[in-house]
Amino acid sequence: MKLTDLGRQRRIGANSLLAEIGPFRVLIDAGLDPKSVGRDSTPNFDLLGAGPLDLVVLTHCHLDHLGSLPIVCREHPEALYVSSRASQMLAQRMLRNSVNVMKRQRDELHNSDLPLYTFNEVDQVDRALLGMAFGQSRKIERDGEELVFTLHRAGHIAGAVGVSFVYKHRRIFFTGDVMFGPQATLDGADFPLEQTDTLVMETTRGAKGRVPDRSRESEVERLISTIAHTVSRGGCVLIPVFALGRMQELLHLLQEARQRGQLPECPVFCTGLGMDIVDYFDAITRKIGGLHFRRTVLKALKVQPPPPFKPGRSPGQGGIYLLSSGMMVEHTPSYHAAAAMLDDHANSICFVGYCDPETPGGELLATAHGDSFLFRVIDHATSVRAQIEQFDLSGHADRDELLQFARTLDPRTVALTHGDPEAREWFFDQLMDSNPKLQIHDLLPNEVVSM
Ligand SMILES: [Zn+2]
Ligand SMILES: [Zn+2]
Repeated sequence: MKLTDLGRQRRIGANSLLAEIGPFRVLIDAGLDPKSVGRDSTPNFDLLGAGPLDLVVLTHCHLDHLGSLPIVCREHPEALYVSSRASQMLAQRMLRNSVNVMKRQRDELHNSDLPLYTFNEVDQVDRALLGMAFGQSRKIERDGEELVFTLHRAGHIAGAVGVSFVYKHRRIFFTGDVMFGPQATLDGADFPLEQTDTLVMETTRGAKGRVPDRSRESEVERLISTIAHTVSRGGCVLIPVFALGRMQELLHLLQEARQRGQLPECPVFCTGLGMDIVDYFDAITRKIGGLHFRRTVLKALKVQPPPPFKPGRSPGQGGIYLLSSGMMVEHTPSYHAAAAMLDDHANSICFVGYCDPETPGGELLATAHGDSFLFRVIDHATSVRAQIEQFDLSGHADRDELLQFARTLDPRTVALTHGDPEAREWFFDQLMDSNPKLQIHDLLPNEVVSM
């Protein structure tokens, strides 16, 4: 197999891998880099060359995996496009939102590349995508040869899959983004454990091990008690979340805590794309399975839209603000809410997932209590007076679990992707230690690796 990372950066950006397996050309994901805008945010599709694509696999609907799919679909109508059935439902909703965001950016940033695709092209993706069940296999043929592939449930978010290929008795496995354990609303990964020749794995959490004595349950408890304390002192709690997955998981956790009597009565504020995703998750729960989420949670928690935010002015009403984006990226509701809440001792900001160090969320986590923090795009500086906490409720596998999985498959070759350099280095060293004969490739942008 020849593997090419089409992403432009050696980190989690525009995820897209070209796998050339015998005569077959397969693309795994086509994302958008959340930290760039316009053409720079897409994978480098020039590396695809002129040849036809046989197959495009979408592992899940986070934009760093999905966001450029309409561009591929426009340029390669000949390919077979597949995803899980849940992703097939979610993809067009996520992509339509992406068109709206790009149109807004075009006006704000005067970037004439934008939008990179149209609503019509999103519809084209919707028509092209074939939804497959977990565990279902298909075969494609070219030049008298066969390639069999299977989608496997990956946990992480609703609809996420890893994908296995069998070509001439050789097995190749791509993890995609994976979480092995169950979440409150989602079953964990169900990956095959048979011997595999080549493993391509994500490395998101490689840089940091789990803190001892902190389980997922104890982290939920710590979060709920932080919220309860803040609300009882009349403060606001901001929880920055991804609109797809994290927001719904948190709604479910809040409702459970309320039912157990651990969460005092207080308003819950939500807005935007995540509220629409609630309806999709309800439908996926009823029609497809693997997900355990019902939209009745909105009524039970009396969820309402937040008031407008003004920098430096804490919202008049205490309560829980569950807002995207998860990394508090500029121009998003969580960014504006933080600018309103940060300089008041009564408030708390609770991060529940990974924050890239170069995003406002990552910068805030690195700022000491009492130090000054600048909200650059709105030119608002303030001291950090609110309580800032981070909770380990990630949707990605612990590094030790992922390492154990890699050892179980006993591959001859491993390719590392989807992680910061330190995260990849940890996996590289650990895998090398356990099997010095193993071939390990740290995938670099624009490099073709033969394996
Ligand atoms: Zn993801
Ligand atoms: Zn990802």
